[in-house]
Formats: sequence, C-alpha cells, structure tokens
Amino acid sequence: MGKSHAACMGLVIDLPAIAANWNALAARAPGARAAAVVKADAYGLGADRVAPALYAAGARDFFVALASEGQAIRPLLPDDAQIFVLSGHMEGADLSGLIPVLNSPEQFFRDRALRPKGAFGIQLDSGMNRLGLEPGEWAAIRTEALAAGPALVMSHLACADEPDHPANAQQLAAFRAMTEGVTAPRSLAATGGILLGPEYHFDLLRPGIGLYGGQPYADARPVVTLALPVIQTREVKPGESVGYGYAWAAQRVSRVATVAAGYADGLARALAREGGLKLWAGDIAVPVIGRISMDLITVDVTDLPDVPATLEVLNPRQGVDDLAALSGTIGYEILTSLGRRYERTWL
Ligand SMILES: *Cc1c(COP(=O)(O)O)cnc(C)c1O
Repeated sequence: MGKSHAACMGLVIDLPAIAANWNALAARAPGARAAAVVKADAYGLGADRVAPALYAAGARDFFVALASEGQAIRPLLPDDAQIFVLSGHMEGADLSGLIPVLNSPEQFFRDRALRPKGAFGIQLDSGMNRLGLEPGEWAAIRTEALAAGPALVMSHLACADEPDHPANAQQLAAFRAMTEGVTAPRSLAATGGILLGPEYHFDLLRPGIGLYGGQPYADARPVVTLALPVIQTREVKPGESVGYGYAWAAQRVSRVATVAAGYADGLARALAREGGLKLWAGDIAVPVIGRISMDLITVDVTDLPDVPATLEVLNPRQGVDDLAALSGTIGYEILTSLGRRYERTWL
C-alpha cells in the first residue's frame, strides 16, 4: 500500500474552492452583482450542496435551466434568494417561488395571464438564435413588459470563450441597442463574458463553469478530485493482452490494475482512444491501457513502487479540461457526465 491512497475514494467536491472562484469572478466586476448558475445539478456537482454554499458566500441570485431544478433548491435557500429559470414559463411549469426568464411573446403573455403579479425576467436574443425575443418581438411588447417591472433583462453570448471573435462586440452592440433606456437590471456575461471586460458586465453576472474550475476561467481553483478504487491487480506476461478487443498487449512483464469506473460513469471510451489518458498515484502518472469498459478501466502500474488503494483521474494535475481535450469535448460535458455511482464527498 502506498501513501498516496490516504486521500479519499470517489468524487470529492471542494465547496470552499467553488466559493473562492465565485468571489474571484465577482471581484473582476466590482460594479456588478454576481449570481451563480447551478443548472444541471450545479454542473453535476450537487446543486443541493453548491447553492447553499454559494448563498453563504454571498450569492443571492441563482440560475437553473428548468422549473423542476428551481423547485429542488427553493427549500434549501432563504427567501431573499432569487432563483431564475432560464427556460422561462413553459406550459404546466410550477413557478411558485421562482422567477421565469421569459423567452418569447408567447411565454410573456402566458406568464402575465397566469401570474399577473409574479416576478419575471426577459431574455433578448442578441444574435445567438437559441433563446430569447428577437428585436422585432421585443419592440412589440417592450412598453408593456417594462411597465410590468421585470426583475432582469438579459441576453447570452455565443462566443465569449473566444475573446477575439467578432460576434462578441456585435452581440454587445445589439444588447445595448435593445436595452437602451431600460432601468431594470441588465445581464449579459457568463464566465467568458466576465473575462471580456467591463463593457460586458452590466448589472448582474452569470458565472457557471468558472465556479466549477473549468475553462475559460484559467485562474480558477480546482474543484473536483476523482479517485477510483483499485479492485484487483495482476501480472501480465509479454505477448498477453488486456481487455476488450485485446487492444493492448504487454511488451514486458507488466503489472495491471483494474479500477472501478468506466464509460457508464462518464469516463468516455474516447478518452483512451489515442492512448493519452493517465491516472495518478500521488505525483506519479500511470497510463490507462486497452479499452475503457462500462464499469472498469485497466492501468499499467508496473512502474509504481507499490499500488495504492485508489488511482486519481481528476486532480489538480489533470483537470476536466485535460480530459475534455483527450476526448474532443469541453470541460462542461466532462463535469455534467460524471456518473451517479461515485461516492460523493463535499468539503
Ligand atoms: C449556462 C449558462 C450560463 C453559464 O455559462 P458558463 O459559461 O458556464 O459560465 C449563463 N447564462 C446562460 C443563459 C446559460 O445558459
């Protein structure tokens, strides 16, 4: 047994690091209020833990995608927390205690008919063409909508993770034009937009991925450690193969460890495609070999002086964006894919 297994099994989520990232992003925009985006179960890390921790750190505004996600955290937050629902007022949604961000004239009229006194926000489309009112639609309802006192008027940037992309300035200009004279709080920036600079900040920031340690917020404190228990080790002789398809064969007398996680736990087969995936025993990296199975991963631990009880796949040396690069995706998808079978611990 090595000394490196002393840490923890499973997925360890560093709530103080999330709070520190929230504070650091908020500090980039001293004139604005910082909200927290906790949709998709706080990017897979547990909205029931993350939202109260961020409330304790000072956040009073939260964003979720669906009303059901909002209802799940509403009882966990004091009354002065505002929970915005980005999908707006969908038919049949239970919006009690929540603030729908209305995305279309249809949603606006439905909401005003069903919740005439209920708080609401408005999302405008500044170019992304995903959600929100287009300029003509906004012009048609603007007077009525503003008279009803929206809690927020917002839009979303499509290319904020590419600072030089011309769409950023175009969307900023479109948002400015559509919100000229609006006195309600305005919001344009998610994590990427915060980093673009003060013109993008307006009144309310909506960071998500940066809180959880992902790009484009390069200065983020790492948030997740994922340690996989070693189930078994064996010796493999030269010429013998390991795993499905006999995809790896030993060149030397090798020690192979089998750990308890696989593609059903969000560690996609594509991670091992180019042979670049490593697990960590303390400071030492060891290569994943063969194919990733549904529940199992095999690792060449021949070069370890001894085999620890767990091997890490996510740690400060290998973060979600490193995994994303290996499998051709983004850190957001790595986080939100993390499986439900890991033992989760919140620091
Ligand atoms: C997901 C989302 C955010 C958060 O974006 P990050 O890039 O994770 O910071 C903010 N606003 C909207 C509308 C979103 O959909």
